[in-house]
Formats: sequence, C-alpha cells, structure tokens
Amino acid sequence: EQEELHCIGCGVPIQTEDKEGLGYTPKSSLQKSEESGKALYCQRCFRLRHYNEIQDVSLTDDDFLRLLNEIRTKDALIINVVDIFDFNGSIIKGLHRFIGDNELLLVGNKRDLLPKSLKKGRLIQWMKERAHEIGLRPEEVLLTSAKKKEDVLELLSTIEEYRQGRDVYIVGVTNVGKSTLINAIIQAAVGEESVITTSQFPGTTLDLIEIPLDDGHYIIDTPGIIHREQMAHYLSPNDLKAITPKKELKPKTYQLNAGQTLFLGGLARFDYLEGDKGSFVVYTARDLMIHRTKLEKADAFYQKHVGELLQPPTDLEHYPLPELVRFEFTAKEKMDIVFSGLGWITVPKGSKIAGWAPKGVAVIRRKALI
Ligand code: GDP
Repeated sequence: EQEELHCIGCGVPIQTEDKEGLGYTPKSSLQKSEESGKALYCQRCFRLRHYNEIQDVSLTDDDFLRLLNEIRTKDALIINVVDIFDFNGSIIKGLHRFIGDNELLLVGNKRDLLPKSLKKGRLIQWMKERAHEIGLRPEEVLLTSAKKKEDVLELLSTIEEYRQGRDVYIVGVTNVGKSTLINAIIQAAVGEESVITTSQFPGTTLDLIEIPLDDGHYIIDTPGIIHREQMAHYLSPNDLKAITPKKELKPKTYQLNAGQTLFLGGLARFDYLEGDKGSFVVYTARDLMIHRTKLEKADAFYQKHVGELLQPPTDLEHYPLPELVRFEFTAKEKMDIVFSGLGWITVPKGSKIAGWAPKGVAVIRRKALI
C-alpha cells in the first residue's frame, strides 16, 4: 500500500489525475522528487514559489462551504474583491452569512475598464448603493486595477487601518482578478518579485495561501468561488478571451426603433419592443461583433447564423451553448440591462425591452452606472 503524499507548501494530498483540482502535481515531478528525495510541492505552490504566480484551483461546493464556514469562526478582516465590469456576476449575495460579524471591505477591481471620465466618487457611491440593496454592509468601498497595479498601496494602507492586529481573508468569485491583485499586493509589500521565497510562505493550513504581515498575522487568499451564473462557464477559453475587455470600454451607441433587435455575437440578444426612437448604448469588449436585425426575423436569423456570422460561440461542438432564454423589462428611468459577464446596454426611460441570454446566465436590470 502506498503512503499518501502531501504538498510541503500547503499540506493538501498530492494527486496526479485532475489538473484543475487541489494538490495536482504532474507525474514527472512526483518521480523526480522520489528519485532526488527533494521536497514535493503541488503545482500551485510550485508556481507560486518559482514564478510568484498564483493559480486557480476548482473546489467542490462542499469544500467552499467548509472554507467559508471556517472564516465565520475567525476574528478577521474580510476583503471581498469584485469585478466592476461584471459587478452583478461577481457580488456574493449571502456573504454576511459566511463571514459572520467580521468587518468587510469591498474592492471593485478592473477600474481600468470603465471610462476614465466616470468619477471615482460616483462609482464608489454606486457600488455602495448596489451593495446595500443586497444586504452587504462594507465598512468601505475601494477601487483598484490589479493589472495596472493602480491603487494597490491605498488598498494596503486601508487594510492596515481596519485590521487592527487581525488576519485578513480575501474572498471572491473566479475571474474577478483576485490572483492578479494578490500578486500585486505581494510585490507592493515585498518589493522585488525575486525576494519572495518559501520561507515567507510557511506550510499553511489546507488550501489557503498566506502572505505574512509584520506583526505575525497573515493575508490569507481563499480559492475563487464559482458563480454559476457567469457566462464564462459556457465558453471555450478562446471565446472567453474574446468577450473579456482588455482596455477601457468604448461605448457604442445605436439609434433604435421599436421592432429592432441587436445580437451580441451569438451569446445574447436584445429586442426593443415598445417606445419612441431612441439611443441605446452598448458596453462590451471592443471586439465583440454586434448585429442589428428586425425583431420579426431575429429567431430565424439566430438559428441560421449562430456560431458563424454570430460569434462567439466559435466551437459549438465542444462547448455547446444552452438555448437563449428571454427576460422582459420596462425601464421607468434610464437603466442598464446587464448580460452577466458580457456587458450591458443602457436603455432610455420608458422603453420596453427583452434581453436574452444562454439558459443559466442572468439578464438583470439595474440603475444606470454611467
Ligand atoms: P481570479 O480568478 O479572480 O484569480 O482572476 P485572475 O487574477 O486570474 O484574473 C482574471 C482575468 O482578469 C485575467 O484575464 C486578468 O488578466 C484579468 N484582470 C485581473 N485584474 C485586472 C484588472 O485590474 N484590469 C483588467 N482589465 N483585467 C484584469
């Protein structure tokens, strides 16, 4: 019988089958370690040590609940990172259930994607209102761009102000940029990338990555929580890239009459049902193709062209897309109709519209952001 091996970095059992799972280690590394007698790291810890790069792993729902329940029993400061481009897809509704009475800071990451003309104060106020609507009570709301390493120092000093000698847990759904932000924090806190060594990442409990602070406490990274309403879960990696904006959003304005339809690639559909001729502003990745058709022809047009003229999806064979499901809305004031993960369309007051997205992906209405 073989003895169970554990990663020396994080303590999880080593496995060689599931690349996305916890404790994954390539068979070749396992062999090398057996031959050389050197310490064995799982791939996630290996990359962290050598490339200062944190990898996502997928966990089952049970693992998440266990992890989150653990946080509730701690006296800690909680940082919840959300993606301001996919705010509704990345906010965690029941967060207070999981974090108990612990104080919360809400961090809106990917600030670089929203127009520079949008004032910081306004954006923070908007986030506060949306957070309160779903019962989140953050002590403070901050904005960062992990990718551009902007406002990371400000985040660190706010963390210092609030943590009062406690540990800090960072939580968030997948794809909000949590790993990028943590790496930026490590760099801001430690300086040069190469300074990071394992001694600064002592063997930690289970599946958590810990960044030491100078008073013996830690910033603890938790694995990304999977939000099933995210469009990302239905797309190939290439298609996900194509719908993910890389630069500041450039809104596109369409003058629409009632009875017209816009397709956002083949992933979503927007029907203008009733109202005067007006301006509809589309906020999506720049490369996403938008097609305008007549509403009465839209069903047939979609059937005929999805996966071809209407892309993404580009690989329906391997990544079948659920059928589009319709949601109807009437805008009492200027509103955003949000296609989770894909972007949103700002509609004028008084318009009646329908938004369609793949079954399982939410279409929601919210107060206009811009
Ligand atoms: P995680 O799953 O939350 O750990 O997210 P990652 O750190 O892996 O980032 C997910 C994607 O978002 C990657 O493509 C990143 O390059 C991108 N990303 C992360 N932070 C930012 C940011 O501040 N701005 C922009 N535009 N993209 C970001």
